[in-house]
Amino acid sequence: MTPEEKKVFETKLYSWVGKEIIPPTAGPDLVNEPMIRQWAEVMGDLNPVYTDKAFAEKSSKKGLIAPPTMLWTWSLEGYPMAFADQQDPSQQDGQRSLHRFMEQNGFTGVLGTNCDQEYLKELRPGDSVIANMVVKSISEEKATAMGNGYFIETLTTFTNQNKETVGTMVFRVLKFKPAQAPKAANESAATENKAPTRLKSVRGHDNAWWWNILEKEKKVPIQRCKSCKTLRHPPRPFCNVCQSGDWDHVESKLNGEIFSFIELHYPEIPGYTYPLICAVISLDEGTRIVSNVIDCKPEDVKIGLRVKGEVLQVDADNIIPQFRIINKNSVGSK
Ligand SMILES: [Zn+2]
Repeated sequence: MTPEEKKVFETKLYSWVGKEIIPPTAGPDLVNEPMIRQWAEVMGDLNPVYTDKAFAEKSSKKGLIAPPTMLWTWSLEGYPMAFADQQDPSQQDGQRSLHRFMEQNGFTGVLGTNCDQEYLKELRPGDSVIANMVVKSISEEKATAMGNGYFIETLTTFTNQNKETVGTMVFRVLKFKPAQAPKAANESAATENKAPTRLKSVRGHDNAWWWNILEKEKKVPIQRCKSCKTLRHPPRPFCNVCQSGDWDHVESKLNGEIFSFIELHYPEIPGYTYPLICAVISLDEGTRIVSNVIDCKPEDVKIGLRVKGEVLQVDADNIIPQFRIINKNSVGSK
C-alpha cells in the first residue's frame, strides 16, 4: 500500500467509528430454564439460584435468575453464522461489511484480544434480550507479532423488553495482515531438495556432553556417580542415591534386552522409517535407554528379547543408537 492508498484506506476505515453495525436485534429465544440449566452444568456453576425454583424464591433474588455471564448467549446467532460469509454482501450486517472491507485490503487475519462485560440488571426466565452493536474505536495501525493490523473495539448494549439496559460488552479484535517470516536467499530451494530428517534431540547444560560423545566417538556413555558409583541415564546433574554432583561416565557395550516397546503407526512423521518400533532397552550395565529396534518384523518384537546396539547415522542430521534383535528365540537367555 502506498502512503496515498493508505490514506484513502484509513479515511474509509475510520468512518466506521461511531456507526451502528448491528441494529437492535432480539435474541432467537427468550431467557429460559433449559438453557440456563445446560449452561450451569457445563460451567460447573452449581449456584441453586439459577436452577432451584424453591430455593431461588426464598432467596434475596425472589425467583430464578440467569447467570450474568450468559448475557451474550441470548443474542448469539447460532449455527447459520458459519455461512454468513457466503451471503449476498448487500444482505450482510455492518460488522461483516467492516471485516470484508479489511480483508479486501489484505487484513485477512482476525484475533479476539479482549472482552469486558458489565452486568446491570438480572435476567429472568421469560425476559427478551435485545442487542445492539456500535464501533467504539479503531486504533492506528499497530505492528504486532501476528503482523500489522488495527484493533477494532465494538460496544454491544443489551436491553430487555422494557427497554432497560441489562448489560454491556466491549469486544476488541485485531484485524491483521498475517506476518510472513523473511526467508534467507535460496533457503526455500535448499529446504525443498533436502530429505526430511528426524526431530533433533533437545540439548542443554546437563545432557549436551552425552550427545557430543555419541556423535564424535560413536559410543554410548552412561553417567556414573563418582562418589557411590551408581549409574544413571538419562544424564542429570545429581546422583539420586547419594546426591553427589560429581560424575564421570562409562561406555555401554550396548548389550541388553527389550524391557517394553510400542509400534508407532499414525501419524507417520516425515524423516522416520516405518514400521517404527520404539523400545525401552534394559542395558546389561543396569540402566535403561529409549531407542528403536530395527531390521525386524514388528511381530517378532517381544519383551525380554536380547538385543545388540550400534551407533548409526540415521539421516543427514542425526546420529543415534539403534538396536537389533540377536535371536528371535532369546527371551530370558543372556
Ligand atoms: Zn552417588
